[in-house]
Amino acid sequence: MDRLKVATVWLGGCSGCHMSFLDLDEWLMELAQYVDIVYSPIADVKEYPEDVDACLVEGAVANEDHVELMHKVRERTRIIVAFGDCAVTGNVTAMRNTFGGPEDFLQRVYVEAADIQGQVPSEPGIVPRLTPRVQPLHAIIPVDAYLPGCPPPASRIKTALQQLLADGAIHLEGPDIKYG
Ligand code: SF4
Repeated sequence: MDRLKVATVWLGGCSGCHMSFLDLDEWLMELAQYVDIVYSPIADVKEYPEDVDACLVEGAVANEDHVELMHKVRERTRIIVAFGDCAVTGNVTAMRNTFGGPEDFLQRVYVEAADIQGQVPSEPGIVPRLTPRVQPLHAIIPVDAYLPGCPPPASRIKTALQQLLADGAIHLEGPDIKYG
């Protein structure tokens, strides 16, 4: 069997979903026999590669860098999984939307709430511009499967990856994993 190329991406989220992935502990050693992690916050790879079999995307889409990266990921990936509730629904990250637009939000956080020297950070090309609203992943690109939970429990992640190893797809029926 060819080794599967798997990626994980961290968008607007707290990294708790990736921590749950790492909670697979010793099963990760078994996974490593069949899978190459080709792009991830836990791998030092700068450019998203071509021909990726599956990508778990944590977090909501919150800035313009996220949008650009997700279009690239969609072009280069066979199966995209919305990994955790922030990717599935917006969840915690989308609470930003209750403040209004990004300018209102930045003003509230960096100026009104600052104790001293309030200032909105702005370095073109370094600090990505916020999108008008935080959105779930499927609002930006087609998503193939959903892995809900905040975070998804390690057992649920394992089930999805076992399906991928079994026949190269993620197609579980039932309440845990839904199709897009
Ligand atoms: Fe963090 Fe929960 Fe969002 Fe995952 S779904 S990134 S654990 S807030």
